[in-house]
Amino acid sequence: MEESILLIYTGGTIGMVLNEDLGLLEPFNFDNLLKQIPQLQKFDAHINTISVEVPKDSATMRFKDWVELGQLIFDNYYSYSGFVVLHGTDTMAYTTSALSFMFSNLRKPIIFTGSQLPIGEVRTDAIENVLTSIELALLKEKGRPLINEVCLYFGNQLFRGNCVTKISSENFNAFVSPHCPVLATSNIKLEVNKSLLMSNKGSLLFSSELGSSVFVYKIHPAISKDQFEKVCEFVKFKVLIIESYGAGTVFLENWFVKNLEMLISKGIFVINVSQCVFGKVDFLYESSKVLLDSGLISSGSMTLEAVITKSMHLLAKNLKSKEFKTQFLTNTAKELC
Ligand code: ASP
Repeated sequence: MEESILLIYTGGTIGMVLNEDLGLLEPFNFDNLLKQIPQLQKFDAHINTISVEVPKDSATMRFKDWVELGQLIFDNYYSYSGFVVLHGTDTMAYTTSALSFMFSNLRKPIIFTGSQLPIGEVRTDAIENVLTSIELALLKEKGRPLINEVCLYFGNQLFRGNCVTKISSENFNAFVSPHCPVLATSNIKLEVNKSLLMSNKGSLLFSSELGSSVFVYKIHPAISKDQFEKVCEFVKFKVLIIESYGAGTVFLENWFVKNLEMLISKGIFVINVSQCVFGKVDFLYESSKVLLDSGLISSGSMTLEAVITKSMHLLAKNLKSKEFKTQFLTNTAKELC
């Protein structure tokens, strides 16, 4: 089969242009984007392009956009050697995490990229990001795609899609993967860390169902009993993600722990995630061990994006409490490094 890539445009800074009247950046026509990268013709592969109907600032994306995007890739899966998705950077790590759980047994690459500067700007980072993403998507080993998973390429690095998080709105290196080493680096040579790549067997599965009853609550020293009780009482959610400190620690007031225990006894899944980008939840301290004893689920080394999207994926399965916990703790898409 001749090599072919489907390049999907969803929006983001990469394709934005300044609306002089409003002084704001807004998405522009995808045809203009292609005119900016004449090097696309140099690939020894067919590059077909498709744009979503209404390109978006990724901040305005909702989870139904993940489902539509996943469905588009699923419908075209057998017609292409790989997929490159142009996406805004703000929520790109959420989309890559979500798709990594929605697809199982991928045997082709789905590589997301975007840029910090619009493609028309002289110093844009878009051109390198797009061209290298395509090159990575075309890599082969023994006649098969080398990359078989959802990835994010940005600032010369290829990241696993469910291990990455955005840390800068200003630097060209906007993303980090706090626990999983980068899968590939683009210098003069493309250096791929093959031992880290996923190799999948079995037939492709795409699950388009997602639950959305997930609430994230960030711990800080000024939280009052009254405020926390109101949250526990009034917010209707099935998953409560507690953003704790450091290695998963929280303050130890009785009312806090008792309220969490009450939620857990009602069948709500309470998950502990660290506020530290480079922090793993590790029940080392008394102030974190107490949570484990109360039935909190540890997110280990998962990013917040992975925790939210994995929870949404599991909620759609309507699992019993024990099974939800077991599946949450299982390293299904290499999200736990
Ligand atoms: N707000 C833009 C977006 O996420 C930022 C970007 O693409 O860098 O769509």
